Amino acid sequence: MPQDLDNSYGQLPARFYTRQSPDPVAAPATLRLNQRLARCLGIEPEMLSAEVLTGNALLPGSDPLAQVYAGHQFGGWVPRLGDGRAILLGEVTGDFGRRDLQLKGAGQTPYSRNGDGRAWLGPVMREYIVSEAMHALGVPTTRALGAALTGETVQRERRYPGAVLLRVAASHIRVGTFQYFAAQGDHEGLALLLDHAAQRHHPDARTPMAFLAAVTKAQAELVAHWLSFGFIHGVMNTDNMTVSGETIDYGPCAFMDAYHPGTVFSSIDQHGRYAFNAQPNMALWNLAQLATSLLPLMQGDADAAAEEATEVLEAFSPHFNAAWQHLHRAKLGLTTEEDGDEALVMGLLSRMASSQADFTATFAALRDGDASAHVTDTDAWDSWAPDWQARLAREPGDPSQTMARANPILIPRNHRIEEAIQAGLQGDYAPFHRLADALETPFDPAPEYLDLATPPRDDQRVMRTFCGT
Ligand code: AMP
Ligand code: MG
Repeated sequence: MPQDLDNSYGQLPARFYTRQSPDPVAAPATLRLNQRLARCLGIEPEMLSAEVLTGNALLPGSDPLAQVYAGHQFGGWVPRLGDGRAILLGEVTGDFGRRDLQLKGAGQTPYSRNGDGRAWLGPVMREYIVSEAMHALGVPTTRALGAALTGETVQRERRYPGAVLLRVAASHIRVGTFQYFAAQGDHEGLALLLDHAAQRHHPDARTPMAFLAAVTKAQAELVAHWLSFGFIHGVMNTDNMTVSGETIDYGPCAFMDAYHPGTVFSSIDQHGRYAFNAQPNMALWNLAQLATSLLPLMQGDADAAAEEATEVLEAFSPHFNAAWQHLHRAKLGLTTEEDGDEALVMGLLSRMASSQADFTATFAALRDGDASAHVTDTDAWDSWAPDWQARLAREPGDPSQTMARANPILIPRNHRIEEAIQAGLQGDYAPFHRLADALETPFDPAPEYLDLATPPRDDQRVMRTFCGT
């Protein structure tokens, strides 16, 4: 590696973290290494040995620490969470800016509560595949630089092989990090955190109000991206929402197969708090918690500041709508704007819902001009398609190219992830590698991967996902 890791977070006061080394593991073995990402970060792939991927050896300049944060989990306040199984090693810097390197599953920390600080193969594979697929789809996200087996087992409902993920993020600063300092009444800490986070993520937004506005816009655009690909995060707690605007924490997440706006996958989301179509509102709920945390830093009269913060939050909806409409117009092949476009998109979505049409396959089929095989109610299709064709006729460019860039052929389908995990548990990692390879080009997959595009048969359908602990 040309340069040592930097550690700007470790320069913040000691109450921001606990210095903590990864716990060594018995027998590190590399599962997968993201060579292309390593090179983008200026890291020689050879530096990322199995020892480094599991934390048995540290990259030069590492200053390992566990970050403290708080959060609302399913609406319930938890005053102290923190990295219970993750360790921030340090940061790489380059023309891309600054990126955290973090090991997930690297052993216990003071924030582990009753947890073992470890991760097992399943969630590590899931996060690797889904986070890299999100990146390839153009969705802001943390990334997977590598994954390794520990040679140890982890006790969950049964014993599983242990694994560690090396995660890359613009930062791991969450809404819950701000909540932690606000709840402590530590306004000095809060101001230091704001300075640090604004400098890293929103350098033109240094005041608390401007920062709130920047995070609001970034999150509104992020959630619009999720919806445009049928993605359900599943656990949008405030500790799982970054201020950078990157998707983080791929626990019980899933891409929908059959489209229904109320879809929920997570086994712990019993009331559908984080259902597909609830995601914009829940993002806004989380942003209101960020606003509350930032209030003590806002100048002048408290009531006036609260009122202004409320106005800033009210911009979520227009930001979200603008991004959502732009992304969904492109899915129909539209680059220009007309008044009836939203109704056209909604018209298709409601027909897809009543036909239980596969979300990804239906939009992919529009590229060929015909999704009637998916919207199985012929009357419903026939009452929509002519309006769409008429609208397309008024488009200047080549709509099929617009759709080819907006409608992926491949997404990480749940049953394929599950299949990769089950094979991995038998020691066969080929399906995992094949899925990860295929998802590098989701809009334009090689013909050999087209079987991965097929929606699940009824007996393959995965209806529940479990938290990645
Ligand atoms: P998550 O649901 O993954 O966002 O995690 C919520 C909180 O639980 C965070 O503070 C995690 O660090 C902690 N946590 C999750 N799994 C473990 C584990 N196996 N050991 C220790 N802490 C954990
Ligand atoms: Mg989390």
